[in-house]
Amino acid sequence: MLKEAGLFGSIDKVNEAIQFLIDLEPPEGYWIAFSGGKDSITIYELVKIAGVKFEAHYNFTTIDPPELVKFIKDNYSEVQIDKPKESFFKLVERKGYPTRQCRWCCDVLKEQGGSGRKIVTGIRKQESVKRSKRRMVEFCYKKKNTIYINPIIDWLDSDVWDFIKIQKLKYCCLYDQGWTRIGCLFCPMAGRERRLYEATLYPKYAKAFVLAFDKRLRIAKDRELRSAKRFSSGTEMFDYWINERHSEDPDQTVMFE
Ligand code: SF4
Repeated sequence: MLKEAGLFGSIDKVNEAIQFLIDLEPPEGYWIAFSGGKDSITIYELVKIAGVKFEAHYNFTTIDPPELVKFIKDNYSEVQIDKPKESFFKLVERKGYPTRQCRWCCDVLKEQGGSGRKIVTGIRKQESVKRSKRRMVEFCYKKKNTIYINPIIDWLDSDVWDFIKIQKLKYCCLYDQGWTRIGCLFCPMAGRERRLYEATLYPKYAKAFVLAFDKRLRIAKDRELRSAKRFSSGTEMFDYWINERHSEDPDQTVMFE
């Protein structure tokens, strides 16, 4: 248990999370869903303090900020980096772009692995309205015999940062550049402004999107899909997508099968 409160306002939350991990430890050990963000490094530290058995996995999506991937490789070499069968861009060629309403990419790139295991996550209620309804222990409705364990579900941002400070944990440099959350680049959930900002920061990725959309359009043309008539180039399609014009579009069925 953590004995010294130091900067940490609520030592009870730390001790509760640690005790919780000890009490629920499965014989085969936990599967840690590690993203490299502040919440993940917190749960990683907590499982280490708890002294429980675990293996940590990072789902490499191929649209991760390079700074984050470097941070994980430099500081968490024991975390297994799981690579997808197809890159995000290949998937876009095949499936079209993801949107807020149709986030096929999370399913394929982020939620693989850990079936039949107790998966420890760093999700917290404070992160979103949807997450505010989540609980500390949840049975997965998609994967059989899989249980999600969310030890820091009630922690606030300030609790996480206090813990990181008191434990002197290294964290990804993007936080010091003003990022409050770190995840996939150009995530449809991030909102238009954020994605436009990322396009200026990561022009090579923006270019890769345009190329993938070009290829997608060629496929759409071969299959005589309506999208082939809608866009004249990958650039036009990228502009439409990143500016979220599809959300105002009465003809949303232009989304691809
Ligand atoms: S881009 Fe967003 S929706 Fe897609 S996998 Fe990443 S986090 Fe999930």
